[in-house]
Amino acid sequence: MISGRSRFGLAGIAAFVAGASILFAKGMDVFFNNNIEPVPAQVGEALEILSGLPAGRSLLDKALGAWNANNVNELHKVFKLGHVSHTDAVLVRQLDPRTGREVRTRKVNVYLKAGQPIESLVLDMAHELVHATTQPVWDPYDPTLTAVKYISFAIEGVGGEVEAMIAECKVSMDFARKYGISSGRCSEYLVRGGETIDREKIRRDFYKIGKWKDGFVRNFVGHEASQLPLLSSQPPKLYSSTGQAPYPIALLYEFEELTRIACDNSKKRRALLVERSVASVHESVSHRATNDFLKSRCR
Ligand SMILES: [Zn+2]
Repeated sequence: MISGRSRFGLAGIAAFVAGASILFAKGMDVFFNNNIEPVPAQVGEALEILSGLPAGRSLLDKALGAWNANNVNELHKVFKLGHVSHTDAVLVRQLDPRTGREVRTRKVNVYLKAGQPIESLVLDMAHELVHATTQPVWDPYDPTLTAVKYISFAIEGVGGEVEAMIAECKVSMDFARKYGISSGRCSEYLVRGGETIDREKIRRDFYKIGKWKDGFVRNFVGHEASQLPLLSSQPPKLYSSTGQAPYPIALLYEFEELTRIACDNSKKRRALLVERSVASVHESVSHRATNDFLKSRCR
């Protein structure tokens, strides 16, 4: 969704997300999120409306594949209501104690903001489905991942914010054509009589961070400035609903939280590998990767 946003959680793996907690049990760690609520009736209504719109239908077709579902009704379980719309992805890394091989799985929950008009719920659903059905292009345990790279991926990468907003706006256009109701959320991104979406304007707006610009560039961007060329001190237009801040700032907090969790997990894994005295080749590879990560990303 737009000005109340949605992402944070993210799209990614990760989810990260504020308030994330960790489970750890012998060789297993997890990025984990909470707020659990029963599936609401409005979710069924929103799914039905979305499936009747061309742009919505193609999102749902992708979702059916992503969740191995036979029909739209089976997608109800993916959605929950929450305070804000966002996608939580839980990454579980599990180390097989016999072989030392690591297995990763990703579990996704989509939260939709409760108490909003049905057309807004439909647009939020479209937006979050883009995040939820795309595998992240980054790895939280990548020793070379930086806040700047993470922000750039989250905004412009496949399944990122720009793509999610474009999907949302396409659904908004279909909704207006079919029901004669325009939510207004995408109005400033529509051009040529409302028939085309101005992708560049959306991109630019994501990087408007107003008063945060100087401190952000000085303290966090540094020599990576060329990777965020659109960063601007113009007044923010798009805010993350979970971060209550312009996206680059909210994503920075998200990255810090993500890194904190990944570092905790890696320290526990290193202790486990040391305790087992690194018996197999796979374990020694895992041990090396864990040490590389801890050295470059953790304090
Ligand atoms: Zn989003």
